[in-house]
Amino acid sequence: MPKLPPRDAFVAVLSSGSRGNCAYVGDGRSGVLIDCGPSTKQILKRMNDVGLGDAPIDAVLVTHEHGDHAGAARVLCNRLKKDTGRDVPFFMTQGTAQALKSAMVPSCLETIAAGRAFRVGGLVVDPFSIPHDTADPVAFRVGIGQRWVGVITDLGRPTTLVSQKLASLSVAVLEFNHDVEMLLDGPYAWSVKQRIRSSHGHLSNAQSAAMLAESVGPHLEHLILAHLSGENNSPERALQEAAMALHSAGAANRVTLHLATQDTPLEPLGVGGAYN
Ligand SMILES: [Zn+2]
Ligand SMILES: [Zn+2]
Repeated sequence: MPKLPPRDAFVAVLSSGSRGNCAYVGDGRSGVLIDCGPSTKQILKRMNDVGLGDAPIDAVLVTHEHGDHAGAARVLCNRLKKDTGRDVPFFMTQGTAQALKSAMVPSCLETIAAGRAFRVGGLVVDPFSIPHDTADPVAFRVGIGQRWVGVITDLGRPTTLVSQKLASLSVAVLEFNHDVEMLLDGPYAWSVKQRIRSSHGHLSNAQSAAMLAESVGPHLEHLILAHLSGENNSPERALQEAAMALHSAGAANRVTLHLATQDTPLEPLGVGGAYN
């Protein structure tokens, strides 16, 4: 079993893509899952696979009601209750809670509002609005000590608010969904192509790269490209655009690039500190 990096704060993207999204953020004492798209079995297996089998799950943060983000909410909630003997809260906006399919509604649901930060153990959770074709979607950044880890996916266009949050991050998990050329030339129906490209769909490589070039903050250590389309993107194209954006921002030397995938979890990344 791989060992955790010798740093307190860490993030592990367990699954990323249209078949299920889930990331773990913690500091060894407190921890949260962001989204629960894969099955409960997969989420717990992957935590175990990357050395987080004993890591605490104090809450699950759900960004929006799409199945690839909320699919396991009900089952995972029941499983965590069984395993820990307590109700682990599933935080989501009122809009998300109302739009969630009944088969996904967790018994320990708590509603939150975009723009209102709250605490989970020693962590600060800051939900903020994103433009996506769902009821009231949010992205989350999680504060650990002086550092912010953010997961920003499923948005149709960059916004000033998202750019501001991105600029604060030490670790950014950022959507690089599609390459526009590949999308337009690809097999999807025209209506689906239009939905993905719309201002409430998903960020293209070019959109994410442009936002990144303008909004790389001074603290950024790790950039994890996420929610890549299996049909309409390639890891090489996404990585190349991200690398060019970091270069143009003068941050190429200090930021490490990673790629989150659908089938293989990323090892936990340590955040902050000059050791290791
Ligand atoms: Zn999604
Ligand atoms: Zn979505």
